[in-house]
Amino acid sequence: MLRLTELRLPIDHQPEAIKTAIAKKLAISEADIQHIHIHKRSYDARKVSQIILIYIVDIDVNHEAKLLAKFKNDPHIQASPDMAYKFVAQAPSTLNERPIIVGFGPCGILAALVLAQMGFKPIVLERGKEVRQRTKDTWGLWRKNILNPESNVQFGEGGAGTFSDGKLYSQIKDPRHLGRKVLEEFVKAGAPEEILYISKPHIGTFKLVTMVETIRQTIESLGGEIRFQQKVVDVLIDNGQMRGVRLENGEELHSRHVVMALGHSARDTFNMLHERGVYMEAKPFSIGFRIEHPQGMIDRCRFGKFAGHPLLGAADYKIVHHAKNGRAVYSFCMCPGGTVVAATSEPNRVVTNGMSQYSRNERNANSGLVVDIQPSDFGDNSPLAGIAFQRIWESKAFELGGGTYAAPAQLVGDFLAGRPSTQVGSVEPSYKPAVNWCDLSVALPDYVIAAMREALPEFDKKIKGYAMHDAVLTGVETRTSSPLRITRNQQCQSLNVKGLFPAGEGAGYAGGILSAGVDGIKVAEAVALSMTM
Ligand code: FAD
Repeated sequence: MLRLTELRLPIDHQPEAIKTAIAKKLAISEADIQHIHIHKRSYDARKVSQIILIYIVDIDVNHEAKLLAKFKNDPHIQASPDMAYKFVAQAPSTLNERPIIVGFGPCGILAALVLAQMGFKPIVLERGKEVRQRTKDTWGLWRKNILNPESNVQFGEGGAGTFSDGKLYSQIKDPRHLGRKVLEEFVKAGAPEEILYISKPHIGTFKLVTMVETIRQTIESLGGEIRFQQKVVDVLIDNGQMRGVRLENGEELHSRHVVMALGHSARDTFNMLHERGVYMEAKPFSIGFRIEHPQGMIDRCRFGKFAGHPLLGAADYKIVHHAKNGRAVYSFCMCPGGTVVAATSEPNRVVTNGMSQYSRNERNANSGLVVDIQPSDFGDNSPLAGIAFQRIWESKAFELGGGTYAAPAQLVGDFLAGRPSTQVGSVEPSYKPAVNWCDLSVALPDYVIAAMREALPEFDKKIKGYAMHDAVLTGVETRTSSPLRITRNQQCQSLNVKGLFPAGEGAGYAGGILSAGVDGIKVAEAVALSMTM
């Protein structure tokens, strides 16, 4: 097969135009093209009057070898790479040990699935509930102001990204195409096929819920076991070797291979691992607010007359500004046509994030508007200092919101003018249970507020209306990534505890659903190799 990249066609091209463009590029007749498979479709919207679709296609073609020789110096015409996933090991027929995976978010799910596919029959321990039950608990906070600290947006089957926009792309380097394996497993579990070929796929909340259940059934059918409401509260370490874990109910499970795919919000578990001497270090992350605008405004600005085109969907954006005080302000986890959600896992704290459904047809666009924070900002050298820092601002947000899980909010115009907001404007905030209008300038450190005030007018130059008076800021966005790293070696094991495999976002090795899934595969491979050596 041949792979052609950078095949550019106008957005409203006819389907046959792809074949014609391929024939032209290869200087062959259309009759020589046997089959066309679209590998990726993206768009270039830099010129709104002329939006271009960019394809990567794989084609079966007559005289392939001749064409490859003819175009050997053209980087856009090459042999198609082999992207099929290959297992690195197979479990022995008599398995005398089962690996343990703590956490059933995207990282734990992919680690468990790949280990199960290799025959290792993993045992997964998840502190939260199975996904349908968890959904009810999560809505309990959004509708009734009741938080369940063990079953919420962060904890439970599917992990943190279950109630999300379900964006499935990442900027990680992926020479082995492990991201493709993740997407293929998601499609097998019911995700739409298009996630395999559109450049910025997303699946939204409801589809994620069903997919997670299907993958759980697959793991179980392969001999794996998934236990819910089983919080790991201790690790059994003997002479620097992992021996197993202790659950909250006192039960001990023994294994010399334990994957910790905890997510970034497992603060109690981080604390326990630190007390047990597991090596970890503080790392940078970002904090800020969510910002909401009318989605139609973002669509018109990004797509002009093509706004609403079915191939483009609701428009997203990605912006960054380097402020005079040295801080970078940037959009984070932008959710087109979505809602701002309450994402705390701890009582008396307020945390924001964003989600959407597959249709992305809610009236507002929302995005994190965040500023980078370094360990030197934490005011303490402990590896856990970032958590203490997050807690300060999350508690403050709870207080500013009125102590009911309502979030503090302010209109952008008032935020820039330095006066508190008292009422809603033309943009209705989507955060549930409610927002409390106030002055957000006290909700985060001064250097963060200063950087944001400088960035908003700059962003308005890129997206007209971005700093509109009635756009809504809701606080606080503190869980952008893990505040620490549980550092590991080349074999994906903790630097000082053999057999402990820190993985995914909580360990500082992923940021997002796809990269967490990819890390899950890498760690599963490391476990399998270690168990068969
Ligand atoms: P997690 O998904 O956090 O999973 C960790 C799991 O470990 C949890 O289920 C937790 O309950 C469990 N656990 C923790 N401690 C213990 C313990 N002691 N014992 C047993 N179990 C334990 N990313 C994207 O790429 N696209 C998006 O659109 C997107 N939107 C998001 C929207 C929201 C509202 C949120 C909160 C996050 C979003 N993210 C998104 C981020 C994404 O969800 C995370 O990057 C990803 O889930 C990390 O995967 P993980 O498996 O490493 O950790």
